[in-house]
Amino acid sequence: MIRLGLNCVSRLRRGALAMGEDVTFGCNRLFASMAEEDRARLSPSLVLRAMPRGAVLFHPGDTVDAVHFPCSAMVSLVAVMAGGETAGTELIGAEGAVGSLMSARPLPAIAQAVVQVSGDVLTLPAEALERAFARSAPLRDHFARYADCLLAQFLQSIACNRRHGLEQRLPGWLLSMRERLGEDEVAMTQERLAQMLGVQRTTVTALALELQRQDVIRYKRGRIRILDSGALAGKSCGCQALVRGHYDRIVPGLYRA
Ligand SMILES: [Zn+2]
Repeated sequence: MIRLGLNCVSRLRRGALAMGEDVTFGCNRLFASMAEEDRARLSPSLVLRAMPRGAVLFHPGDTVDAVHFPCSAMVSLVAVMAGGETAGTELIGAEGAVGSLMSARPLPAIAQAVVQVSGDVLTLPAEALERAFARSAPLRDHFARYADCLLAQFLQSIACNRRHGLEQRLPGWLLSMRERLGEDEVAMTQERLAQMLGVQRTTVTALALELQRQDVIRYKRGRIRILDSGALAGKSCGCQALVRGHYDRIVPGLYRA
């Protein structure tokens, strides 16, 4: 198993808050689970930034020249249609990364990367990852394994959206957030939640009220608190559990906080 927690605490530059200031923080698990020599090679190039909700890391068509590793933040990849409509897809948190993951070189983005839950994000220039890939086969394998997990997550999500109703998808989605954040509460407005799940806000509101009436969740001032995770698991379709199982087989220790 990968050792996380205190083993991955590093002192790095904090970027957008105060350049040059050293800070201590708990790492992103994808970064923390690299081999020690790979982490040592990449750490000097990392910058830690506090990102507000709604911040855009890149737009469709932008040349993406960095990898972003969410720490306490969660980022979604938002698809933009030809007519300009948008639809949020999967949330990516401390278990993963977005950006120049596999190419490790500047390439245009097809989606928009938006911060959905505010928090810290580590940013690594793609050229630093490209240099490290050239020197470390285990590092390339580590990223390939994560890319496999991310693909599985997206495939399962597509099938789930087609086959399962919101009354099953919302409980699974909330459990997935809880597992990856390691917290029972998350800041998420009903509007953003509806966008993520591809439904009308009023539909989310009605279901959230019903779950609240059953004392399964509490929704207050844009914050969702899970009161009964067992009840949520019983209501969910199980797609999130399949995704979690795949992560656990391919890169143990990555998915769950
Ligand atoms: Zn499902």
